Amino acid sequence: MVSLPIVQYEEKIIETVERNPVVVVIGETGSGKSTQLSQMLHRRGYGKIAITQPRRVAAVSVARRVAHELGVQLGEEVGYAIRFEDRTSHSTRIKYLTDGVLLRESLANPELNEYSVIILDEAHERSLNTDILMGLMRRLVNIRSSDLKVLITSATLDGEKVSKFFADCPVLNVPGKLYPVEVLYSRERPSSYLESSLKTALDIHIREPEGDILIFMTGQDDIEKLVSKLEDKVRALEEGSCMDAIILPLHGSLPPELQVRVFSPPPPNCRRIIVATNIAETSLTVDGVVYVIDSGYVKQRQYNPSSGMYSLDVVQISKVQANQRAGRAGRTRPGKCYRLYPSRIYNDEFLDVTVPEIQRSSLAGSVLYLKSLDLPDIDILKFDFLDPPSSESLQDALKQLFLIDAIDENGAITSIGQKMAELPLEPSLAKTLMEANNYGCLYEALTVAAMLSAETTLLPGQRKTEKKRKHTISNLPDGSGLGDHIQLLQIYECWDQTDFDIGWCKDNGLQVRGMLFVRDVRKQLSQIMQKISKGPLDVRANGKREEFRQDYRNLRKALCMGYANQLAERKMHHNGYRTLGFQAQVVQVHPSSVLSLDDLGKFPDYVVYHELIATPRPYMRNVCAVEMRWVIPIINKLKSLDVYKLSSGGVHHVEEEPEKKLPDFPKKDVEVASTADDR
Ligand code: ADP
Repeated sequence: MVSLPIVQYEEKIIETVERNPVVVVIGETGSGKSTQLSQMLHRRGYGKIAITQPRRVAAVSVARRVAHELGVQLGEEVGYAIRFEDRTSHSTRIKYLTDGVLLRESLANPELNEYSVIILDEAHERSLNTDILMGLMRRLVNIRSSDLKVLITSATLDGEKVSKFFADCPVLNVPGKLYPVEVLYSRERPSSYLESSLKTALDIHIREPEGDILIFMTGQDDIEKLVSKLEDKVRALEEGSCMDAIILPLHGSLPPELQVRVFSPPPPNCRRIIVATNIAETSLTVDGVVYVIDSGYVKQRQYNPSSGMYSLDVVQISKVQANQRAGRAGRTRPGKCYRLYPSRIYNDEFLDVTVPEIQRSSLAGSVLYLKSLDLPDIDILKFDFLDPPSSESLQDALKQLFLIDAIDENGAITSIGQKMAELPLEPSLAKTLMEANNYGCLYEALTVAAMLSAETTLLPGQRKTEKKRKHTISNLPDGSGLGDHIQLLQIYECWDQTDFDIGWCKDNGLQVRGMLFVRDVRKQLSQIMQKISKGPLDVRANGKREEFRQDYRNLRKALCMGYANQLAERKMHHNGYRTLGFQAQVVQVHPSSVLSLDDLGKFPDYVVYHELIATPRPYMRNVCAVEMRWVIPIINKLKSLDVYKLSSGGVHHVEEEPEKKLPDFPKKDVEVASTADDR
């Protein structure tokens, strides 16, 4: 194995770690931070080591690699833990885990005593969870000053800023061996990135000497399209006119066995063309790349706290990202980076650094988590963030938590909030499960939660499978028209009835891997519910389901309570809806929804939605019909909300005037019906 740059610095690193509780290590991507640091510390006799990764695929891939390098079985001495998948054992000494999983572990054990070293890797990605962990580590190193070492590693992070955050801790720079990269700009932005990438890649393949090509695209769809076009074009090239080419996709939803293909070198006289998302920017290092094609874009989820809406936008990358991408071409020898945008755009329009996730996410889950930590000495009001979120998004989180009873009117966590924090789900789904347990429909709600957690891996996009799926769906029992959640439930139940037959998934256009994942997630959620419900658990949750009413009323009511912040009311004269949040908005039902029109040709008066997405018109995705009598108490609760009081026990001082705007009320005057009959 070629010696990685970091290896030469082993003595220096160990010496610095021995003398300091916190050390920042900055090193070029591919210098060996993720794979080597843990092994160095392990060799020197440190106890159990945790290394966090912001991405699931990186945690799995790096753990595999390290197990391989040490010649041990994955899951034994070296293992990984990602949400819903734990491949560790009592003998694990080096544990790769997502930052979210480490946060969760700290709920059960706030001092994380199990570990003697915690490495927060890829801190430059500035994921929400890594940012929160940085705040927690700052506190933890004081409490465990004698027996905990913390390392923060990054490819590009501003070392001084982090060092200041950790009481001026030392910063080690590992100089990388990066060869010069020639940057070539387009004269103007192309009208189609896909076509322009295709053309550039073929030009390189035909004209340039050997060396792999790495193309950055924004998402799985574009990657699949480009891979197929490249395959066609390369096949059509005259035999012997140039070397062979292998085209490889690389993105987060690729099955692990296909992901690892990018780590094997190409056969002789063959060039690899890797078409990737920004996962290849810093998370996974692909060796052998000499040419990079950079579209200048990335797909990013952004949350707007005033509308409660997520949008999945294709946005311009930052200068730091553009330079990272270019750097991928200079790892083995001098390379070239083809930027499909003019230098003027790079200079004038690109932000210097990427906006941290904490400033573009919904914080409800994080705030609930912080409030649930059993840390007597932590003042949540003054929680340390490397870059604080806006007070608007903190207020938004507090309102959401109040509406679902996770915090009380003074901002203090409730006992149900405490339980919700233990579920590895967003607070609204966690609340749905708690309510479902009360209403005797936990069995069904667990399935819905598991299906929603894996939704993206369930439905492969190809037309052929879509047809099969449509056929299955048209044969579902009555009630699926009540909404997408019900349909997800029914699909799973049909599969359950076949005794989880793999062939059934294939016949019905559902991804086997995704469905098996759902079954596994469901089981885990059910075990966690068992653990946290001190009272009686809906007994059917683990057994066979009973016959239940066709209108799924209890389940829909549980969803309504869980997604209290995500309700919408049909507008009087057409099929548009208006959200019932603080800022009412006009939205539409997403065309993919199965929600049916009623006998009068109308959509239901009230619905709950899983998310609002702007594409670019605001759409509700995953929608389910609910009843007005469940909605009214929620609206009354909204009315009683005093943001200022909530914030006083919240995580942040809110300086602005409290927001006064309240939602409009349903126009019809209806008594709040008793809920007893729904149980
Ligand atoms: P850094 O964390 O500094 O970016 P890594 O430790 O991730 O660097 O990578 C060091 C080297 O190990 C790279 O050459 C990379 O290609 C290789 N590597 C990492 N993961 C794997 C894997 N799963 N299989 C094969 N090689 C890998």
